[in-house]
Amino acid sequence: MSHAILAALGLAETNSGTYLGDGEWSSTTDAGTLAPANPATGEAIARVHASSAADYETIVRRAQEAFKVWRATPAPRRGEAVRLCGEALRRHKDALGSLVALEMGKIKPEGDGEVQEMIDIADFAVGQSRMLYGYTMHSERPGHRMYEQWHPLGLVGIISAFNFPVAVWSWNAFLAAVCGDVCIWKPSPKTPLSAVATMKICNEALKAGGFPDIFFLFNDAGTELSQNFVDDRRIPLISFTGSTRVGRLVGERVARRMGRSLLELGGNNAIILDESADLKLAIPAIVFGAVGTAGQRCTTTRRLFVHESIVDDVTQKLVAAYKQVEGKIGDPTDPKTLMGPLNSPEAVQAYLAAIEQARAAGGKVLTGGAALADRKGNFVLPTIVAGLDNGHEVVQTETFAPILYVMPFKTLDEAIAMQNAVPQGLSSAIFTQDLKAAEQYLSAAGSDCGIANVNIGTSGAEIGGAFGGEKETGGGRESGSTAWQAYMRRQTNTINYSDALPLAQGIKFDL
Ligand code: NAD
Repeated sequence: MSHAILAALGLAETNSGTYLGDGEWSSTTDAGTLAPANPATGEAIARVHASSAADYETIVRRAQEAFKVWRATPAPRRGEAVRLCGEALRRHKDALGSLVALEMGKIKPEGDGEVQEMIDIADFAVGQSRMLYGYTMHSERPGHRMYEQWHPLGLVGIISAFNFPVAVWSWNAFLAAVCGDVCIWKPSPKTPLSAVATMKICNEALKAGGFPDIFFLFNDAGTELSQNFVDDRRIPLISFTGSTRVGRLVGERVARRMGRSLLELGGNNAIILDESADLKLAIPAIVFGAVGTAGQRCTTTRRLFVHESIVDDVTQKLVAAYKQVEGKIGDPTDPKTLMGPLNSPEAVQAYLAAIEQARAAGGKVLTGGAALADRKGNFVLPTIVAGLDNGHEVVQTETFAPILYVMPFKTLDEAIAMQNAVPQGLSSAIFTQDLKAAEQYLSAAGSDCGIANVNIGTSGAEIGGAFGGEKETGGGRESGSTAWQAYMRRQTNTINYSDALPLAQGIKFDL
């Protein structure tokens, strides 16, 4: 089956991981090989040759040349290029969604959903290409006009995480493209095949439409090339999606060279259920948020604060729902599966270590708490832990696995304070039917996260809003709203159409 998926996307047993532009894939074979394993079986799917330092130099040189053409291309015309990419992705949605499921391990509807997000952001970017608006300002000086305009930034470096192997690239690349930038992508070494397939789909569409190369790709077998990428002064913006640990390194290095970084890092997302919560909405939202993608979303629900009057009822209902999910753990490409494997054996070890740590601290495992040793692959049980304090180290840490910590509260103030008392600040939600509670939660004194929802869960954000989070989540915003501005440089212009030279603030400078 994996062979058919690869063939449908023009992938072979061994592939180049470097798109050099001009329709050319590098022939480098001595810079290391990436062999992503199917997380459901542990077997290698196919191989990708990593890129050399010489490949990287070729890419940057060609990207710089491409930028000279692209920045002068009218923005709506740039939108047309992205529209063609979106159309090509529509045609390849099933195959690319299957490859994402195969390589990353998320279930097929989530793989397809990820490709749908690429299509959605392509549509969004096409519209945005006609709306790169700047303000006009009223000058304080007579006979003067002031306005601002947004210019393309240059080369945009995109470093992405394994858990959204294709959508993260498109959130950045499609907006950056309509903004007039040229993108260089370094994907996760765990999901290089999805990246190669995406490049083939989009770059063939661009070529057929008569557009120049604006999307380049390299793969790194280690981290040396990636670090050089981060340090490269020819790249004014590095958009990084990944762990807080690596994101901190990247942010510091880019800051040192006075570059811009857009950081989309780890989350430790919570849902609050007050006394009035509608459990018909809340229970499925919690289960989807905590168990979906086997707990490997940045927006995964990891902490649950439940009013003490309903905590027993809620945990009983959750445990029952988790038991149903347990019966549907399996091959992510099987349509009956609800929960696939973790991406790697290391992720299983991190899951087991967190549960061990939770138990040692007096936590009670209400359901789950074990890896599935009866089969191949990186399968674990979705887990609920009660009895731990919000301040405990394991609760404060993002373990990228399906572990939910349940904690009771007495007052909403207390719940909001606990929700906010973590280093991360990505996504958050409250389930309530009390208007005052909802408004308090969304107020300046409420949730401190980049995303705060009422009566829907923490995961599954729409592309129309700006996506990202505060504190150690990095502060970046991608996707909708005004996120496009991160990919452009702002210029303020003043034009004097009078015969005088009045100085600002009424200053006299007699000559
Ligand atoms: P990771 O930090 O291990 O890797 C992310 C990327 O960084 C990979 O491409 C990796 O090869 C690269 N990298 C590693 N070392 C580097 C270095 N020294 N210099 C430059 N690049 C380097 O993250 P992961 O395990 O792939 O992804 C999971 C993490 O990503 C989780 O913490 C998750 O919350 C986060 N994430 C955040 C968002 C968001 O939008 N906030 C979205 C998806 C994932």
